[in-house]
Amino acid sequence: MNNSSTLRYLFPHQETSKTAQGQVIWLYGLSGAGKSTIAHAAKNKLLSSNKKCFVLDGDDLRTGLNSDLGFSDHDRQENLRRAGEVARLLSYTTDIVICTFITPFNDIRGVIHGIMQGQSYKEVFIDTPLSECERRDVKGLYKKARQGLIKDFTGIDSPFEKPISPDLVISTREKSIDMCADELLKLI
Ligand code: ADP
Repeated sequence: MNNSSTLRYLFPHQETSKTAQGQVIWLYGLSGAGKSTIAHAAKNKLLSSNKKCFVLDGDDLRTGLNSDLGFSDHDRQENLRRAGEVARLLSYTTDIVICTFITPFNDIRGVIHGIMQGQSYKEVFIDTPLSECERRDVKGLYKKARQGLIKDFTGIDSPFEKPISPDLVISTREKSIDMCADELLKLI
């Protein structure tokens, strides 16, 4: 399918530009690594330079579209497959889609890469050590996981695989949110 017929297939009832297709940036890392914070800081900077940006947040999908899914390996994969498809659709209507998902396994990262074939797509590892994420414990989830109140929590009793070849690694320790957002924007 060429670009314009793909657009007609995806949006049969909508007027869409025949050529415009935005970029998808996929941020991954542990819970509390800083994915959402950096994504929203970058979004604010993009908006001030008149670029349209949408942040597709893992927590938002978990409470809505993907509320039927849990945290088994199968459900994690399905959660991310759906997220990838949604991000791809959104890229037809906005300049930049920034996705913030833990994305713990390399094979899932590969599935998303496959969904993004033919798309401007970049993977960014938000590299914050577990000890720092646990110290931040923004949502109190690490404490609960350590107490055994949450099972299969990434970094505690479910693995986070070392990434193989991200396009960018942002290390958040000893850097301001603003500096991290600027690093991300250099990729866009
Ligand atoms: P995630 O989306 O990866 O689960 P959040 O963005 O919700 O993580 O939380 C990250 C926390 O770390 C926030 O409270 C944020 O203020 C803090 N933080 C401290 N330094 C940084 C930094 N350099 N970049 C991003 N977040 C940072």
